[in-house]
Amino acid sequence: MLAYQFTTWEQDFELCEVPTPEPGPGETLIRVAGAGVCHSDLYLCDWPQSSLPSYDLPFTVGHEITGWVEETGPGVSGLEAGTAVAVYGAWGCGACGQCAIESENYCENAAEVVASGPGRPGLGRDGGIAEFFLAPMSHHLVPLPSDLDPVEAAPLTDAGLTTYHAIRQSLDRLGEGSTAVVIGIGGLGSLAVQILRALSAAQVIAVDIAPARLEVARRHGAHHALLSTENPSEAISDLTGGRGADLVLDIVGIDDTLSLAASAAAIRGHITVVGIGPGSFPMGYLHVPRGLSASTVFWGTIPDLAEVVALAGTGAVKSDTETFSMEEAPIAYQRLRDGSLEGRAVIVPHDPR
Ligand code: NAD
Ligand code: ZN
Ligand code: ZN
Repeated sequence: MLAYQFTTWEQDFELCEVPTPEPGPGETLIRVAGAGVCHSDLYLCDWPQSSLPSYDLPFTVGHEITGWVEETGPGVSGLEAGTAVAVYGAWGCGACGQCAIESENYCENAAEVVASGPGRPGLGRDGGIAEFFLAPMSHHLVPLPSDLDPVEAAPLTDAGLTTYHAIRQSLDRLGEGSTAVVIGIGGLGSLAVQILRALSAAQVIAVDIAPARLEVARRHGAHHALLSTENPSEAISDLTGGRGADLVLDIVGIDDTLSLAASAAAIRGHITVVGIGPGSFPMGYLHVPRGLSASTVFWGTIPDLAEVVALAGTGAVKSDTETFSMEEAPIAYQRLRDGSLEGRAVIVPHDPR
């Protein structure tokens, strides 16, 4: 089968011919419907090997995966062939305190999971940009609602899941009269705007460096959309009567956006850093609003995935997608890199797309 693989450190991925996997005990073979292209993948091939976990190459990339059950191995029950599923990718060790409370995404043994355990799909072991994907554990397969197109659902497994997880943790801040700011309206940010509108009463202010992305934010219900180059922190102050934002989601994570997040936050506000940019900001008593808190997030939980998929099933949240064939995967990554995608790129390995 065809698979798009990370074969050489600090080089672009390559389209390869590899054997189709066969499901062993406990494993499920998935016929891939769609595999989303995430900005994090660019860090895989751009960042030096020393800055990334000790992945063994080659492996197939793609960690946003949906598909249909093709075949199950011995011991797998309850998954009929043809069932449409979303693949949960933030696999944990299954044994630590975080895994015990259904937070595999915060597994305390994540380094061992990558180095010598099951790994994570598309991040050290074979992922979903291939004709078939082998899921080692069936509890990571979340059935899709029948009215949700599996191709459109692919971005929900990371772009949707991560933003849903981040927003759900802060919902108690987002009542009437509150404000949420989303910085970075790409694949994740455009879903964050929709999830905020669907779940909260907050005024939603979107910020991006690209004017076209502000249009996307407005289309998805943002009340205001501001260019990051035009002093957005002053505009956010005006739009909140001088209070600032109760929640800022920084989905870029560079010095400039983190500094904007700190200046845009309200007293007792919260900053959630979602973007994996290399930035930082001064978190000190004299530097930030009183009572400010800040956190990072990593992906989300299995219950979060079931909830965001159900929310999409109601039509309240919809991924903008642009589909590409396997042969077009390099073009999809190039378009992500140069910022010219109009929706989340989803690789669709089987016809018809
Ligand atoms: P994307 O390329 O689709 O979107 C990035 C957006 O940020 C674009 O619209 C771009 O115009 C905008 N942007 C860039 N620089 C900006 C600036 N200075 N100010 C304002 N906007 C700016 O990327 P994506 O796939 O949505 O991923 C976004 C980030 O989230 C990446 O850093 C990615 O690695 C990270 N991510 C984190 C997690 C997690 O678990 N924490 C999960 C998935 C992705
Ligand atoms: Zn991702
Ligand atoms: Zn664990």
